[in-house]
Amino acid sequence: MNENDLIYSFAKANVIQASGLIALMMPQTLGAGVAVKAMDGRYKLVNQVMQGYFSKTSQQFSSLTDAELFPTEVAAQLQQSDAQIMAGAATCSDQLDCWIDGRSIQCLWFKFPVHGPDGQILFIGAAMLDTARMGDIDKMQKSLELLQNTNQELQKTLVELSKLASTDKLTGAWNRRRLEEALLNEMDRLKRYDHPLSMLILDIDLFKKVNDEHGHSVGDEVLVKLANVLQSSLRASDTLTRWGGEEFVVLCPNTTLSTVTLLAERLRTNVAMAIFPTAKHVTISLGAAECMVGEAWEDWFKRADAALYRAKAGGRNQVQVAPEAPQRDGAGNAMTANLVRLSWHAAYECGNPVIDEQHRGLFADANHLLGAVLSDRPEAEVAALVNTLVRDVVQHFKDEEVIIRAAGYPHAAEHAAIHNALVDKAVLLVKHFHDGTLAIGELFQFLAHDVVARHMLGADREFFGYLQPKPKS
Ligand code: GH3
Ligand code: MG
Ligand code: MG
Repeated sequence: MNENDLIYSFAKANVIQASGLIALMMPQTLGAGVAVKAMDGRYKLVNQVMQGYFSKTSQQFSSLTDAELFPTEVAAQLQQSDAQIMAGAATCSDQLDCWIDGRSIQCLWFKFPVHGPDGQILFIGAAMLDTARMGDIDKMQKSLELLQNTNQELQKTLVELSKLASTDKLTGAWNRRRLEEALLNEMDRLKRYDHPLSMLILDIDLFKKVNDEHGHSVGDEVLVKLANVLQSSLRASDTLTRWGGEEFVVLCPNTTLSTVTLLAERLRTNVAMAIFPTAKHVTISLGAAECMVGEAWEDWFKRADAALYRAKAGGRNQVQVAPEAPQRDGAGNAMTANLVRLSWHAAYECGNPVIDEQHRGLFADANHLLGAVLSDRPEAEVAALVNTLVRDVVQHFKDEEVIIRAAGYPHAAEHAAIHNALVDKAVLLVKHFHDGTLAIGELFQFLAHDVVARHMLGADREFFGYLQPKPKS
């Protein structure tokens, strides 16, 4: 086995397993330049040997590419081995004559993937060895073994680092960056599966006074305690983000506006009842908003923020709920969180006369029911209107399923499954209502808001395109 083969097998057996930022710790006596490159080929980190070869500081290196460091041919070869690593190769090597600082050096390059905690490739690792400077092979093996031993510890550090990068130092809550990542996912689920998605924005009341009276460090302690109280009041799927200063955002996947409003009220009470360090009592104001299908994050956030503003203006220590935004096509704002009439709008029409007629009929059913509830009609009358609404919903779902299947809507089966789930839940809630264990307000909220309005203006819009006659070209 010649020297190159030996080095190669060491690298394969050790360096690669020890891949990670740890490679940077490779002792200088090894004479190996070690670098970590981003997936776009830019150098992120380099060790001292590498810096020495190129007479560049780590900072000067940062963001450079091979094309900027080497002649075209060498750079092309290095890029090719990068590509192999990105494509999933466990290792790659190049033997190249690199022209560095005015002299030609014969170099061995080893490339290896740097994996993140869940196995995805985060970076490309590169070790560069000047063959003339390769001395004691034994020493090298020892160094590499050492590296391997420290690998685990450093992998943990890597996980810690990525956690640090996504959490707020003071409170341990998510930071904005982490929230923005999660939002993309959640908003996609809303669009694809019609899963409801809600948000709370909350802000400490008169926090400036806490700082003024007790000092900034007490203010900080209050923030930490607040984050704890909030975290322990949230459900497992909800997340807390420190949006800035004394303002937090709670993201609630799979949550409708009515549910998030109850959660907000619980947070408000728990905070008001908690005992805070030195300051003793602190209150928060909250704004709640549910994301509309097709709504941009900024618009959704603005509605929640406006609700928070109203909570402040209304005297603080309270929850305000954002009215739902108008549909993007300019339809009137039909629904709000509370018991509100559903008003029909031409933009809700899909172009199929049967479906449109039934959708309109369901709006009317819901409004009749609402009228009876609001004017305190006898229970039997309300119950009959509930039954009418449910019966019409079931009939409409059946008819709609036939029509969209016939129209070739490719997700007809999924849509029918959504219908079934809604009907199952409706039947259960109606049963609870008749048993006397569910208030009419909550039943109405579900039937009118979730089943009729939300479903029609959400999931149903996905098939609208299949029903409308194609525009003439
Ligand atoms: P409001 O009820 O209208 O929200 O009144 P407020 O006093 O809470 O609002 P304002 O925005 O006037 O003041 C917020 C204060 O929060 C000002 C700032 O000094 C303080 N603050 C922001 N971030 C931190 C922090 O990290 N630590 C501490 N201790 N204070 C902070
Ligand atoms: Mg405040
Ligand atoms: Mg439908």
